[in-house]
Amino acid sequence: MQSLNNTKVKKQNIGHNTIVKCNDVNIGEGFCTVIAGPCAIENEKMAVQTAKEVEAKGAEIFRSSVFKPRTSPYSFQGYGTNGIEIFSSIRSETNLLLESEVLSCEHLEILYDHIDLVRIGSRNMDNYELLKEVGKTNKPVILKRGMSSTIEEFLLAAEYIISNGNERVILCERGIRTFETYTRNTLDILAIPALKELTHLPVIVDPSHSCGRRSLVPAASRAAIAAGADGIIIEVHPNPGSAISDGDQSINFEVFNNLMKDLYRLSEVMNKKWAVKNRKMTI
Ligand code: PEP
Ligand code: MN
Repeated sequence: MQSLNNTKVKKQNIGHNTIVKCNDVNIGEGFCTVIAGPCAIENEKMAVQTAKEVEAKGAEIFRSSVFKPRTSPYSFQGYGTNGIEIFSSIRSETNLLLESEVLSCEHLEILYDHIDLVRIGSRNMDNYELLKEVGKTNKPVILKRGMSSTIEEFLLAAEYIISNGNERVILCERGIRTFETYTRNTLDILAIPALKELTHLPVIVDPSHSCGRRSLVPAASRAAIAAGADGIIIEVHPNPGSAISDGDQSINFEVFNNLMKDLYRLSEVMNKKWAVKNRKMTI
């Protein structure tokens, strides 16, 4: 990995693990952070209902996607700027932090004051102009691995953000494209310890887009934490069968509840504190 030698992402060049602190939530080595919510905000009722439910079960951050990158231009593209009003309702009903995907510099500007963390999706991992713009901000950034990117390319994308001044980068493994079609992508489980070995940055996993099928999502989530991930970002929907997007890989509240119990126990084994300090949990 010649090109990583003098980089700011390289663990040996920094000498410590970075914990990204976002209000009272810590993301990084020694913590387990759960980001949960629907693939896309569909309306205020389901967003608030889902937010309250995932918070009660121990999630700290809400997936608040309002701009959706869809394969077909005819599919639902997200709630768009109307979603910003819904963010206020979620904030008044819960203590969750909000994260949302930006597909462009324009989205970054629109959402900037309304979210706590920015997400850059797989399709934009190598959108270097967007990475540079996010790098000029001080917001924590969840950077997802491009679906056909090597670990080195992934880390160099993170370097674009860090070298522009923003060190609050969280890496997200979300599965890569392989010849296998049973799953939507192939979760590269060894990317977790590999990224931990190479870099000081927090590493989380998206089991939902890795699997593409909800029956596999709990196993992928448990495997991620057991392999050393610092948390997960997961799709939860009140009624996955009627979800407008990614229903097949979304889990319902009951499955989420059981999974959280497993992750809570697993994080103890992995010497990870649950990321939230003061929040009330019912698990
Ligand atoms: C998402 O998280 O909403 C998403 C579209 O995932 P990815 O960018 O990993 O495909
Ligand atoms: Mn999705």
